[in-house]
Amino acid sequence: MTHVIFKTILSCLLLSYGWILEAQTQIITHRGYWDKLGSAQNSLSSLENAIRMDAYGSELDVWITTDGVLVLNHDETYQGVVIQTSSSEALAPLRLINGEPLPTLQQCLDVAKKQQKTKLIVEIKPHNSIENDVRATQETVKLIHENGMDEWVDYISFSPHVCKELIRLSPQHRVAYLNGDKSPQELKAEGYWGLDYASDVLKEKHPEWIKEAKALGLTTNVWTVNQVEQMRYFISEGIDYITTDNPQLLKGLLNL
Ligand code: MG
Repeated sequence: MTHVIFKTILSCLLLSYGWILEAQTQIITHRGYWDKLGSAQNSLSSLENAIRMDAYGSELDVWITTDGVLVLNHDETYQGVVIQTSSSEALAPLRLINGEPLPTLQQCLDVAKKQQKTKLIVEIKPHNSIENDVRATQETVKLIHENGMDEWVDYISFSPHVCKELIRLSPQHRVAYLNGDKSPQELKAEGYWGLDYASDVLKEKHPEWIKEAKALGLTTNVWTVNQVEQMRYFISEGIDYITTDNPQLLKGLLNL
């Protein structure tokens, strides 16, 4: 009898410990962990830094070139060159502030493959047409699949066309919507995995959405949170992921 009671208490403790681990907010580095000497946003170096600090995920922004190469950059243009209307050859001479060329998604996958800690949080950018949104999405999914990296990628986008295509290609894809204008109920009905909304949406406009999303089984992610007070607020709300330019600060607050 004592043995049974002991075993029951032990399983309860283990379950609670598992729940605590699961409930722990995780760190996503925004455009990689770039705020370090020698690095740059959306660079291979920023991805390597994110991996080195054991981030849950490293976010990156993807565009497709006219010849179908998937290239990282935040804005539509880099140094005046429009990525989606340029060939990869035309982008080749461009350099980031740390001297790296603009990385391709393939190069990021090659870095990510060498470890088993940090996921790629792949943001597919809204392109200039629905056709290009769909094309960029299909090529991204194909490349990730061919590299055997399906399990190491979460997808995000502001474009409902990109998200719809990701979910159509596979309902197993982990897709979170960025644009902040769909309720958790709408996201759930459309087959999303989660929401990834701006801090003002989740703190000021719809503070109830984190709990509503959780109740529906959706994941919750907030961007871009760089200040201590905001980090504390979202941690106390039990958010799953915080996307930040200041991952070391967040790591300290989470006692990781
Ligand atoms: Mg982004």
